[in-house]
Amino acid sequence: MPAGQLRVRSIWLGPGRELSPGELAWDAQGRLLVLRRASVRARLADLCLVPGLVNAHAHLQLPALPEPGAPHAFLPWVGAVMAARSAMPPGDLAAAAVAAARGLLAEGVTAVGEVDAAGTSPVPLGRLGWRGRCYRELVGYHLGQTAARDLLRELRPRVPSALRWGWSPHAPYSVSPALFAAAVASRRPLAIHCAELPEEQEFLHTGRGPFAELLQRLGRLPADHRPSGCGAVQWLERLGALRRTTQLVHCQELEPGDVARIAASQASIAVCPGTIAWFRRNAPPVPAWLAAGIPVALGTDSRASSAPFGMRAELAAALRLWPSLGPEQVLAMATVHGARALACPGLGRLALGGRADFFAVPAGADAATEPVVAFVRGERPVVGVWLGGRRWRGLRTGLSISPPGLP
Ligand SMILES: [Zn+2]
Repeated sequence: MPAGQLRVRSIWLGPGRELSPGELAWDAQGRLLVLRRASVRARLADLCLVPGLVNAHAHLQLPALPEPGAPHAFLPWVGAVMAARSAMPPGDLAAAAVAAARGLLAEGVTAVGEVDAAGTSPVPLGRLGWRGRCYRELVGYHLGQTAARDLLRELRPRVPSALRWGWSPHAPYSVSPALFAAAVASRRPLAIHCAELPEEQEFLHTGRGPFAELLQRLGRLPADHRPSGCGAVQWLERLGALRRTTQLVHCQELEPGDVARIAASQASIAVCPGTIAWFRRNAPPVPAWLAAGIPVALGTDSRASSAPFGMRAELAAALRLWPSLGPEQVLAMATVHGARALACPGLGRLALGGRADFFAVPAGADAATEPVVAFVRGERPVVGVWLGGRRWRGLRTGLSISPPGLP
């Protein structure tokens, strides 16, 4: 006996794949029992259903910062983020994450890859009905083996959550080899900011530049420090951090050979168009990465580096930055590729036995592709969101769906 059921004009299952008309039903645990073409004689809700969006890279705890008037320097921005975050008590960090999550939910986001700096995100995000992964952030360029192991022991999540967990060793310029090694040895999925800046590559190659000066000032550059002598991707490869369950974030400054290295490792990349715009960076060659077989996912990053902050803004921006991809490919980045980037392969898709996480847009008289194209372009609203088969009540659209009865 299904706990819920919908018969609709169309269900989008992926680029070029749709059920039209479509029918789905789920059990009390929110697992899909039925996913098939509906009878043409069935009464249909005038909706197109789409798998819930996966926001592959976010820092939901961070507050908004003033938008830069001029091309924004990275290091002063990092200082502003650290100051803003340290001024927030843990309760405020959790509340900020929930507020950001509610805004994203209204856009059809049902899963997240959250970089959690304080241990405060997993429980409230799970309670909202979200899935995905919280990556506990690791920072410490000065940490040796023992200190690194102690840090992981201290930060390991202790309270159960519906979200899975992993580590986010922040970046090659802020995490020591010993701290990377400890995170790698844990076998947990990793999210790493990688090859984001030319100064990062300079520091890794030569041991000099603004990051060296910053670490020196903070007393975090060990006296016997030697540069890696290679770029960020090669460095992560040497550390054993390039693997299928690793998500590399940004990858603005890849070097020759890096795309092949990432593709061979089966790691994924998360890009954040809002952050590219914020820092006035050039768009990286996402179509070439996809063509090389790398899963490329979309993330919002944080309010501190994205003025519109939202997945719909990221979708529309991705379409502008990489027009050759087209709306359905961009939507695949925000669904199945997002799930791959979180090492949660059941998310971002509708499949029998999988979770009933999806959202609805008005179908009109069109086949599934048309409402999806309009949605990605920002031209069609989300009128309903379902998490594990339960309709989210936070979205006030006034939409009532008559045939058939619904939870
Ligand atoms: Zn980030």
